[in-house]
Amino acid sequence: MPRIECIAIGSELLTSGRLDTNSVWLAERLGDMGLTLRRKTAVGDDREDMRRLFREALDRSDIILCTGGLGPTFDDFTKEVWAEVVGAPLREDPQAREEMLAYYAARNRVPSTSNFQQVLIPEGAERVRNPAGTAPGVYWEDPKGFPGRRVILFPGVPREMKLMWEQQVAPRLQSLAGAPMRTLRMVFGSVPESALGERTQALREQFGQVEWTILAGIQHVELVGRTPDPAVLEAALAAFRREMGPDLAHVGAEGGIENAVVDLLNRREQTLAVAESMPGGNLAARLCAIPGVSSVFLGGATVYSALAKARLAGLELPFIMANGTVSEPVTIALAKAIRGRLETHWGLAVTGNAGPTEDKDGPAPIGTCLAAVAGPEGTECRTFRLPGGRAELQVRGASWALDMLRRKLL
Ligand code: AMP
Ligand code: MG
Repeated sequence: MPRIECIAIGSELLTSGRLDTNSVWLAERLGDMGLTLRRKTAVGDDREDMRRLFREALDRSDIILCTGGLGPTFDDFTKEVWAEVVGAPLREDPQAREEMLAYYAARNRVPSTSNFQQVLIPEGAERVRNPAGTAPGVYWEDPKGFPGRRVILFPGVPREMKLMWEQQVAPRLQSLAGAPMRTLRMVFGSVPESALGERTQALREQFGQVEWTILAGIQHVELVGRTPDPAVLEAALAAFRREMGPDLAHVGAEGGIENAVVDLLNRREQTLAVAESMPGGNLAARLCAIPGVSSVFLGGATVYSALAKARLAGLELPFIMANGTVSEPVTIALAKAIRGRLETHWGLAVTGNAGPTEDKDGPAPIGTCLAAVAGPEGTECRTFRLPGGRAELQVRGASWALDMLRRKLL
């Protein structure tokens, strides 16, 4: 398996100015070919930094994919630095020169001196035609003094890089391709990241040929396995289902706990309504993002204020005041009320404190979240203490509430 690395060149990639999307795209394409990206780096337009990085890359990788710095401006010198590192002079490529002149002639324009710099290719390397711009790329096999290495230079413009990869570079790497990588993605509900790590350790070791990653997000934690053998992933999934039981919420390339809830409701042919205070609409937004959800999700209300809880869900203001908005009686009343108003099988209500009001010694410090599920067999309320800032708490609160409903639906 060749060791492949990607180098994104451009000072703008080291600031908030621009995100390096090229390496993400290349990683995906390599995965399709059964090849793995081992490392990626971004480097600014600095000759010394680039020199050092290119030397290191030649030392450790078989294939080096570089993007950026092939343009005609003062900060484009990727080819120059590579030529220097390998010790190969730059030579004008006659075909590249012709193509460049034709490009300008077709547009009734005259190239500038810097455009002639673009048609220089290191000795021993091949030019990669650019079908969408003026900067040709470079495909360099066995650079002088570095046998077995391949250095491939692309322009930074994503559209040009992609076309050149697809038309000219990927076919040349095809002989190295392996079986395409398969991915198993498992989403867990109400399981902290550390607990997931511990509880899955033995199984991850048992399926050691799979490359495992735990991704902790705000909405949920997920465990992703990658290997070329689909049978191994199938066996791993069966083992994880046995081991994790109801904690395993959802399996699939996309989606999360809300998808699991919607699947279960569909299977039972039952409906849901929500009354959400702390999530501020996150619950409904996540459900509504699922295509076809109208068969089971009828709607709900963002009952953010006491007045909304009174007017939209029919709670009595004195009842809210007497219990406090973040309380079991109010949350339970909201779940029952929304279920009654929309005549659904299930009502889900969430209240809580996402800040900024501290309520340190009160009943609802920041991070408190109450979820109530009202269903055919009665109502249950649970209290969670969740970590994070305001935006995270709103999303997490919705996730924990959805997961509570999911477990009831199982
Ligand atoms: P360059 O080839 O360095 O002249 O870059 C041309 C354009 O592509 C510029 O607008 C860059 O900001 C953009 N670009 C360069 N590298 C990347 C990258 N890794 N991901 C996304 N855009 C990039
Ligand atoms: Mg640049």
